[in-house]
Amino acid sequence: MKIWRPYTQMFNHKPDSFLEIESAKGSYINLKNGKKCLDGISSWWLITHGHCHPQIVEAIQKQSEKIDQIIFANFSHSPSEELAEELAKILPKKLDTLFFSDNGSTAVEVSIKMALQYWQQVGNPEKNRILAFDSAYHGDTCGAMSVSGKSHFNKPYEKLQFNVCRIKQGHYLHEDEETWLSDFKKQLEKNHDKIAAIIIEPLIQGAGGMIIWPPKILKKLVSLCKIHNVLVIFDEVMTGFGRTGSMFAFEQVNYTPDFLCLSKGLTGGMLPMALTVTTNKIYKAFLSKDPYKMLFHGHSFTANPIACSAAVANLKVYKEENTLLNIKHMEIAHTNSLRQLKTNLGNLVKDVRVLGSIGVLELNLETQYGGNFSKTFFEACLSLDLLVRPLGNVVYLMPPFSTTSSEIEMAWNKIAKVCKKFQ
Ligand code: PMP
Repeated sequence: MKIWRPYTQMFNHKPDSFLEIESAKGSYINLKNGKKCLDGISSWWLITHGHCHPQIVEAIQKQSEKIDQIIFANFSHSPSEELAEELAKILPKKLDTLFFSDNGSTAVEVSIKMALQYWQQVGNPEKNRILAFDSAYHGDTCGAMSVSGKSHFNKPYEKLQFNVCRIKQGHYLHEDEETWLSDFKKQLEKNHDKIAAIIIEPLIQGAGGMIIWPPKILKKLVSLCKIHNVLVIFDEVMTGFGRTGSMFAFEQVNYTPDFLCLSKGLTGGMLPMALTVTTNKIYKAFLSKDPYKMLFHGHSFTANPIACSAAVANLKVYKEENTLLNIKHMEIAHTNSLRQLKTNLGNLVKDVRVLGSIGVLELNLETQYGGNFSKTFFEACLSLDLLVRPLGNVVYLMPPFSTTSSEIEMAWNKIAKVCKKFQ
């Protein structure tokens, strides 16, 4: 039996060419060949407090002895209720309704379905289009691909995608802020009657190239949406749970969206689970004597009790370990290292940027996702005991929150060493 890997051209790999992992602990993964590598990307942006955090492991062990999985349609259980209570403590009051699913893409799908059905049920069915960004990435299911930017990622499946209204963006949103905002305003004024919702990766577009955009643009953008009665979906699948320096990115714009999509770090990165969090205004529009006005969505593993317990344990660690303070230290470490790299690597550097636990080095190289550069870079870093996977010419570090400032500095030094080969 062959195993088909995610985002992998299998032609380039023999079945036994995948590196065996023996164990993972804190910020490190231990390979069977004896190597110990810093997980520079939190294993696809998932791990929060470090691999196999003892409190999350313990919560999983304990819960798995009580209830494994139970149908969530007619039943309830304390891990789901406890998670709702814990989230209520850290989310704005307005976001008071949770819907469970299993991964980031489905959290996005649910938000889109809720938004479209909402407008139908409040008597505004012509509001049926989603407004989405050019360089966005929201996942791999058909709806999530439709609202993602058009790219190599989703081209083969074009026929499966629905039409969306597109927001054009330059490479950096902040390059010509005023013109950009005025174009956006015109687009909204013209089309708001048919736009149900806008979907946004707040503060940073991840897979699109770690494009960071200033909170003030986001703030102006969402206030225009409010004026034009366009619902706002914040996809915080990547940005949620501390990555950007605050627990959620929306806190930095002091704005509460109508939908918040969460996954990845929700369970500390240990078990698959996702949430679409919304407001009572949306929820109420689905309450009716008519059964056909319910939300037609539900997954087998909805609110898995073990995953809920992992999520509760994950949330507790933020307080106990003062995680946000460590993320501040990570931000300072990225900033210092990248400043030096910029000087040392000269013209090879196109841009450096930092946001919370994320440090980004954009290189002046023509390359694309999955190309030879990424592979060569990945292998060269791995030989130096560092796991990074560049997105085309964008090399970034997003390690678990257990990573120290000196580990970040060492990781950037290794990256600089590898970069020198491309000078
Ligand atoms: N939204 C964003 C912003 C993401 O970064 C990702 C995954 N990288 C997704 C959605 C999709 O999540 P998943 O891979 O869990 O389906």
